[in-house]
Amino acid sequence: MPTAACGIDCDVCKLRLMEICSTCGPGKSADAQSKLETQKRILGNTCPILDCAVLNQIDYCMRDCELFPCNNFELGYPFSEGFLRMQSRRLAQIPPARSHINTPVEVPQTYWELIQDKSIPAICNCTLTEPFPDNSGATGVIFRFLNEDILVDFQSRMLKRRNGMDWEQSQDPLLELVSLVYFGSAKSLLPLSQDIVSPNDLKEGHFFQGPHELKTAPLLERYGHDPEAFSRAALALGGTSVDMADRSYMLLPFPRIPLYYLFWEGDQEFAPDITILMDRSIEAYLAADAIWGLVNRVSQALLQGPAKMI
Ligand code: SF4
Ligand code: SF4
Repeated sequence: MPTAACGIDCDVCKLRLMEICSTCGPGKSADAQSKLETQKRILGNTCPILDCAVLNQIDYCMRDCELFPCNNFELGYPFSEGFLRMQSRRLAQIPPARSHINTPVEVPQTYWELIQDKSIPAICNCTLTEPFPDNSGATGVIFRFLNEDILVDFQSRMLKRRNGMDWEQSQDPLLELVSLVYFGSAKSLLPLSQDIVSPNDLKEGHFFQGPHELKTAPLLERYGHDPEAFSRAALALGGTSVDMADRSYMLLPFPRIPLYYLFWEGDQEFAPDITILMDRSIEAYLAADAIWGLVNRVSQALLQGPAKMI
């Protein structure tokens, strides 16, 4: 595995082919240990990035460290200031919203028109959310999405996030679309069924096959060998630990819509695995494509991790 902890790909470096330089390797590798020893012997000191990654058992700074880009990169090597600024800026962004047919998500204005005709107090009663600004003159609905408050502002037709005492517009089309579908369809407050099922067991379970299978590969790539980081990310998003796998958390994208992320740590025989389950009552509110979108949005938040929170 010739990619160094910092992200330099030694695989494509002629210095390695010429045996002038050896790979640094990921932070948990034997290559990294041996490179540090070589640096100490030949140079008298070590690379602070590699040193830190080994000490903190981080394979790759850019993928696995919640502190990236940290001040170890401020020495100007191996990346430019411009690259590091770009990384900081983009790590804080919400990933692009794609539909289940892999097109950019757009929110049709008809969804806003439909919801504007509804009684806000009735929506709040059915979904355990809050009217905004208050019950008598409500123009929107506030709900808790994982670890933050979101305002669905019917009047300005915008999704907003809390910023101190104010609300600012949020460019989050996937969450906007699913929120409008959910608040537009909620007609009664159903009890949670306690029947926790795989998406394949829902009435529209056939939808979640092939290209519409719930995506767990990016989560496994990031957390498969870093269960502690998976727990930190889930807890930072307001997740509650539940006893269903090696590590499992209930996450609440809406107050009455729990999603369950089950993490199996894997061993010599089996690779790590992640399973996503849901309360069967979800199908009373959301069609299969909306469930797919909601799960993707929550998985994106988990992948983003605690430091670069949504
Ligand atoms: S910056 Fe450090 S970790 Fe990256 S290639 Fe150089 S010595 Fe290795
Ligand atoms: S703190 Fe910096 S050098 Fe250390 S592992 Fe994280 S990103 Fe890499």
